[in-house]
Amino acid sequence: MQALSIRNLVKVYGNGVQALKSVDLDVAEGDFFALLGPNGAGKTTMIGIITSLVTKTSGTVRILGHDIDTDLNAAKACIGVVPQEINLNSFDRVGNIVINQAGFYGMSVRQARPRAQQVLEQLDLWDRRHEIARNLSGGMKRRLMIARSLVHSPRLLILDEPTAGVDIEIRRSMWQFLGALNDAGTTIILTTHYLEEAECLCRHVAIIDNGEVIQHHPMDDFLRTLKQQNYIVSTVDPVNVVPVLDGCLIHRLKDRELEIAVQRDHDLNDVFAGLGAAGIRIISMRNKTNRLEELFFNLTERSDPGRTPDATVRPETEA
Ligand code: ADP
Repeated sequence: MQALSIRNLVKVYGNGVQALKSVDLDVAEGDFFALLGPNGAGKTTMIGIITSLVTKTSGTVRILGHDIDTDLNAAKACIGVVPQEINLNSFDRVGNIVINQAGFYGMSVRQARPRAQQVLEQLDLWDRRHEIARNLSGGMKRRLMIARSLVHSPRLLILDEPTAGVDIEIRRSMWQFLGALNDAGTTIILTTHYLEEAECLCRHVAIIDNGEVIQHHPMDDFLRTLKQQNYIVSTVDPVNVVPVLDGCLIHRLKDRELEIAVQRDHDLNDVFAGLGAAGIRIISMRNKTNRLEELFFNLTERSDPGRTPDATVRPETEA
């Protein structure tokens, strides 16, 4: 079954902005799915419609088989949402926030208590259950929003920029938690600007740009469509003169470290040979971890021609 099935979804706001232009999108049950796109692409509008916060202009949305037009309550019961903005009641206590949320899904306080304990323990917040939300750190507030979204055991969890503004350690622990949740069977859809987050967590990705889904693939296939691959090369000796190689753009990062952007169809043996001919001996070589970011740039550059990538590859034909 599809966790989410969207057909011909259109949203025109009152001011005439066409935020979604006949979008089709399927997310299979059990998937970990990334929805990527530049600002203004239509991601929040799409999530708003799926979670019935925004009314659609036309089209159909089915959540685990439930049509939001004809079966809204059943559709809503399947979804947990973690919005982008922190929207906790600052003066309410952590435990109450989760228990109150359960009430919206028809759970009695008796039913909600053990479940609230479970999700708060999972998110490392049980010790804070008597604290008011205002006293929590930013990372804890984000975790509390996740705990709240899970109290009714949704089969589909939607997170809009879940790790925006949290430090790297908390981000990684949230990734771990979300990965385990997905392994246990919850379908997860994520929007994110941290592209390595999508690369690390997600099995499928859709790129939305200007109200249209312009790409929808398994993550691995996506990464293979890169125009260029960036490598970090460590050298035995300091590199004083950066060599010029066809099909590559080379930057010196440190005395003994180069960043090399290589065109995807370029033979790496030629790169090694070229570096060797320039007297550069290599200790190690690794992928730079911004492949998805480069891909994203390549796919959406038409929507913002002012952006420039970190490094562009010199065409083969150039002298
Ligand atoms: P994203 O989440 O990808 O940044 P949004 O869904 O927020 O994109 O926005 C898509 C487009 O719809 C943008 O052009 C935005 O300005 C417009 N938009 C979003 N919300 C509203 C609104 N309430 N009224 C009018 N236009 C809106």
